[in-house]
Amino acid sequence: MEKGLTVSFDLDGTLTKHTFVDGVWNEGIPYIVAKKRGISFEDARSLCMEAYKAEGESSIRWYQLGYWMNFFDIQDIDVNKLVLRFTDRICVFDDAIPVLERLKRDNCTLIIFSNATRPFLDKEVSVSKIAPYFDKIISLPDDWGMLKAQTQAFVRLRSIVDGEFIHAGDHIYYDYEVPRSVGIDAFHIWRGSGPKRNDSLTSLEAFTDRVLCG
Ligand SMILES: [Mg+2]
Repeated sequence: MEKGLTVSFDLDGTLTKHTFVDGVWNEGIPYIVAKKRGISFEDARSLCMEAYKAEGESSIRWYQLGYWMNFFDIQDIDVNKLVLRFTDRICVFDDAIPVLERLKRDNCTLIIFSNATRPFLDKEVSVSKIAPYFDKIISLPDDWGMLKAQTQAFVRLRSIVDGEFIHAGDHIYYDYEVPRSVGIDAFHIWRGSGPKRNDSLTSLEAFTDRVLCG
């Protein structure tokens, strides 16, 4: 029997909106830093944003709450509680569930391939109820000690997939250029902001039409 198509998806900004993660990083942590240092929330927020920017999203530490707890000297806080405060902001894009249903009906194997660490990833997939659609859910930093910025991450993913394989996500570099550079068929999903390519797709529906109908 011919092996069906495997599709791997980025999570944040592709299947789920940034509202939840933005809440934790841009409100939750600054709030704690403000209290700890006795400064205003606005000042703490600027301080956090500058520190995140200086570290940069191509660094694995940028994704790790534990690193930032040490960095801001707020190790005494309960990471789970911090994340829980924002779980009511977890929100899937309207096109996500219909598309996952459709791909499953078509016997596709589905994977989440995310730079999010487990405390974020696990909450997002459980609250949004998308976990059952996926055959594999991979947190690059926590499960593999890697990031999508590394071509080896995609090479490793390719090596565990049988048959035809496609990746989709909203980051032009991590979800499009890096996988394409190692010969993986990748699609950029443009969600209304940030850089866009001529061949970017503007919805998961357009992506699914493209991969299932050619
Ligand atoms: Mg993303």
